[in-house]
Parts: sequence; C-alpha cells; structure tokens
Amino acid sequence: MDAANGCGSCDLPFTKPQVVVSRGNPQACLMMIGEAPGAREDELGKPFVGRSGKLMDRLMESVGLDPDVDAYICNVVKCRPPKNRRPTLVEIASCRPWLQQQIELVDPYVIALAGSTAVEAILGIKGGITKLRGQWQHWHGRLLMPLLHPAYLLRNPSPADGAPIALTRSDLNEVRHRLKQVDRCAVVPMLDSSRRRLP
Ligand code: SF4
Repeated sequence: MDAANGCGSCDLPFTKPQVVVSRGNPQACLMMIGEAPGAREDELGKPFVGRSGKLMDRLMESVGLDPDVDAYICNVVKCRPPKNRRPTLVEIASCRPWLQQQIELVDPYVIALAGSTAVEAILGIKGGITKLRGQWQHWHGRLLMPLLHPAYLLRNPSPADGAPIALTRSDLNEVRHRLKQVDRCAVVPMLDSSRRRLP
C-alpha cells in the first residue's frame, strides 16, 4: 500500500498531502473501516488515533479485542478532507481501488463498518445507520457489522443502557463472539498474559 503515497486520483492530496493508510494487524480476521482521516490522523499518519478513535479503541478493549492485534483499521478515504467534511462520492469512488486492495490483502472474516459513510461506500445503503447497526450483513462471502461512528458516540456520551455507547459495545461484543467461533480467528482474552502476538 506504499503506492498510495503517490496517489493523485482525486483532489484531496492537493489540499493536504498526508496519505493515511492503516494501523493494526494486516493478518487480523477483523477489519474496521471508518470514514476519513481527521486532524490527528493526518498529523500522525494513522487512522483512528484522534479522540473518536481512542474511544473506539477503549470500546474494543472493553469486549476483549485488542485494536492493534485483533484488527486492521483503515478508512474509506485515505486523505483528510478539508475541515473534516464528509468525503464526496467522487472522492470515495476514486479511493475505492485502494480500499479494495486492502480488503483483498487482509482477507478479513468480519468487516466492521464504523458510520454511515463506510456503510454507504461498501453496501451502497444510504442513511439509516441507527437501524442498521448491530445487524449482520453479508457481502461477497464476508460478514459485515455496521456500527455507529465513534464521533457520534463522543457527542452522545451517556453510559446508560440502550444509549449509543452501550449499543456499540454490544455490537462489538457480537463481533468478538462471532470471531471466536472461527478457529483461525480465535481471540485470546485481553487479561491472558500469555497472549500471543500474531507475526
Ligand atoms: S483520497 Fe484516496 S484517491 Fe484521493 S488522493 Fe488520497 S489516496 Fe488517492
């Protein structure tokens, strides 16, 4: 994916040249796809490292998923849109070959789609993320789990049962449960000090 650094397929690199490809484990059974890099991601060159990404990390950890070991994390669009605006359909389509290449290389058993842009980009379903979240989808032989976007969770921080954060934890728990049922994806509990890191 280093080739993406020289990509000029859409106008985004002319506004900000950082290409943010991925973090995590390319051999993971779980792939998390978000929308686009924000300011912090652009600065560090890694996806999901700003406030919302850290919240998603904590939620993953709370259900026993290590974001750096059990997941490969990326975005639909690899360059930061100006002022964090939503990427346009042209930008999403321009960046799609890179995303497709990532999916083929990682070959994930489960793809978690964080937010409506990721759902629309992969499944072509526009809107309705609050109804779609938590509902398994099937796509080209893979299981997909739509999730609420962590930026939305930051704006809705209630810890109450049934609130967005609790719902997302439940959805991630469902993901972990599904991964555990597949031999090659078995997730070692976070508290196990003998946890083996994948190569
Ligand atoms: S957003 Fe994607 S298509 Fe556009 S320049 Fe960056 S890597 Fe290329």
